[in-house]
Order: sequence, then structure tokens, then C-alpha cells
Amino acid sequence: MGHNKQVIIITGSSRGIGAATAIEAARRGYSVCINYLNDKEKAERVKQEVTSLGVPCLIVRADVSQQNEVVRMFQEVEHHLGPVTALVNNVGILQEKMNLVDMPFSRVEQVLKTNVLSVFACCQEAIKQMAVSKGGKGGAIVNVSSVASRLGSAGEYIDYAASKGAMDTLTIGLSKEVAADHIRVNSVRPGFIHTDIHRDGGEAERVNRLAPILPMQRGGEPEEVANAILWLLSDESSYVTGSFIDLAGGL
Ligand code: NAP
Repeated sequence: MGHNKQVIIITGSSRGIGAATAIEAARRGYSVCINYLNDKEKAERVKQEVTSLGVPCLIVRADVSQQNEVVRMFQEVEHHLGPVTALVNNVGILQEKMNLVDMPFSRVEQVLKTNVLSVFACCQEAIKQMAVSKGGKGGAIVNVSSVASRLGSAGEYIDYAASKGAMDTLTIGLSKEVAADHIRVNSVRPGFIHTDIHRDGGEAERVNRLAPILPMQRGGEPEEVANAILWLLSDESSYVTGSFIDLAGGL
């Protein structure tokens, strides 16, 4: 362990892109916090894989749309694994496709709370543990946005797309605000990735349907996104901050 210990929190890492990121982080020697909301069994399965790679692992069930739960998660991680050096804001939800005019307002609220307020809360807690001006050793944050932030998701989920737009602006502003505190803030913007999120939009087969229209003619794998996230967290990207990597097969 020693003073070079890297501790990572990946929000929403019981499946999909978050789970792939947790496993890739374990391969690179990070102590890993797996966060989830509902699916304990899947979180346990990811933990098994992480642990088999020989690194410490902690599962924290926390609804990241609730600030008090975020605060508790960061406290638990500091206590059990040590101060956080890497944060991946990966939680993101979308709901049934429809036009904005038909969206129940409660849905818009839930999407913005889960996708945006969670990021504000997690970044606040991470900065408290990372910032050199607060006695920390610096760190890196990666926000998992979406190509939806520049495409807009008309007729599908404008609320989701707009939440990613807010995330992108936070990435730009915060990267400048905390640069002198030795914290880098970057973003990945996936396109169509094979995960369960598309089921929530009402079309589990969305990626396969749309793959032929992509320049690369295929959807992406969660591991392909995870590799970019881990690069942005690593010293190999030591002069990169406020940047965006699109992982969308050319879309
Ligand atoms: P996913 O398969 O639906 O997984 C979502 C994860 O988030 C699960 O682990 C879930 O936990 C967790 N979660 C949901 N709400 C939570 C909350 N309030 N508190 C804590 N955990 C919560 O999603 P994904 O496709 O991997 O997407 C991950 C990120 O990539 C999202 O931000 C998404 O917008 C973005 N993205 C995905 C795609 C794509 O094509 N898949 C494209 C662009 C961007 P439970 O298992 O407990 O429910």
C-alpha cells in the first residue's frame, strides 16, 4: 500500500460501464468502492471479481441523488480504504422515450436530481479529500456524460440529454476551479454501448438497431469506455483537464 495508494469511487458500478470500470481499476491496483442502489447481487458479483484481482474492495449502497447518502459514502470509503484519489461520476438514468411536452414533471425532476445533483454532491466530497489546500494529495475526477449532450435526444429524452449538458459545463468550470489544487476533471461521452440502460428507455435492443447507421457499424462495449476512463484518471494524462473523449464509433 504505502503513500501511493490509489482509492477510487465509481458511482453506479454494479453493472454496465461502472462495473467494467471497477474491474479495470482493480487490474491497475486501485482500492475500489463499488456503489449501487438496488441490485445487491450484481454488486456482490463485481466485488468478487475485483477481490480476485487482489485489491481491497468496499460495497456501499447509497442513493447518490441524496446528498446525505453521498456524504456517508465518502466517509465510509475514507474510513475503510483511505482518502479518495479518483472519482468516476457514472450514475445516469433515462426513462421511457417521449416528447418533452408529455413528460410528467416528477420524472424530469428525478432525472435531473439523479444525473446532475449527484455529480455536484460527489464532487464536493471528493474535493474535500483530494485538494492539496485541504491537506490532500490531489486526484482526478471523470464524469460519464453522453453524446446526447451535443445531439439533444429529440423525441426520446431531452431531460436526459440536458442533464448531460449540465454535466459538461460543470466539467469545464470545475476543471479550472480545482486545477491549482492538483485535481483534474475530465469527461467521457459514450454513444451506443451494450448495457441494460436501453431497457429503461423502452428498447432493450436499441444498440443493435442503431449500429448499422454508425460509421463504425457497431455498438461499443463497456470495457472500451472503461479504458478511456482509466487513462483519464492515470498519470499518462497528467496535462489533460477540462477535456472530453467521445466514445461513439464516429457518431
Ligand atoms: P446501467 O447499465 O443502467 O447501470 C446504471 C448503474 O447506476 C447501476 O449500477 C445502478 O445500480 C446505478 N444507479 C442508478 N441510480 C442510482 C442512484 N440513484 N444511486 C446509486 N446508484 C445508482 O447504465 P450504463 O449504461 O452503464 O450507463 C452508465 C453511464 O453511462 C450513465 O451516466 C449513462 O448516462 C452513460 N451513458 C451510457 C450509454 C450507453 O449506451 N449505455 C451511452 C451514453 C452515456 P443498480 O444496479 O442498483 O440499479
